[in-house]
Amino acid sequence: MKMPIEMKFCQHCASLLSHRIPEGDDKLRFCCDTCDTIFYQNPNNVVGTLPIFENSVLLCQRGIEPRKGKWTLPAGFMENGESTLQGAIRETYEEACVRVDTDDSSLYTLFNLPRINQVYLFFRASLKLPNFSPGIESLDVQLFNEEQIPWDEIAFPVVRATLKHYFEDRKTLNFPVRMFDIDYQKDQGMKIDLISQSRDRKREDT
Ligand SMILES: [Zn+2]
Repeated sequence: MKMPIEMKFCQHCASLLSHRIPEGDDKLRFCCDTCDTIFYQNPNNVVGTLPIFENSVLLCQRGIEPRKGKWTLPAGFMENGESTLQGAIRETYEEACVRVDTDDSSLYTLFNLPRINQVYLFFRASLKLPNFSPGIESLDVQLFNEEQIPWDEIAFPVVRATLKHYFEDRKTLNFPVRMFDIDYQKDQGMKIDLISQSRDRKREDT
């Protein structure tokens, strides 16, 4: 498991923190013994969209590290006070200067990454018009059809997996919601396991 981010001083009273298991707990926490505060650290949600225009997908070329220069779906850390979809739409606007259509946005892929304490969620979304431009964190923004996708230049495995499933699902126009666990294993590299998949609605109807 990934180590928690090192905390040294209490955010409330500036005393030196201790790293110990608090009474009644079973995990190491950063604790302030002066003002009795426990600082819990929990996973972060990364939310993004798979923006579609006609038969193409919108990708952003990253202007910041990590993976600067590589292509990604617009995504970023969720903010307090917003829903996952609101966060995904906001991130898409920030990175590609485009508002995706909220009416037909739906959850598509969810990735658990316990090793780095993150959860990724991507929503399928459509663009009414191809009016976009690079946001502050992007070098470039472009539409790619399946043949044009720069597979060797994709920034993250979660993005590659989401794109692969999208082009596969498009053949049957059935887009189930899938959840994956991603783990890194010694000598074996990364492992992406499909944990669950929603049912085929079209098949249920018949
Ligand atoms: Zn304190």
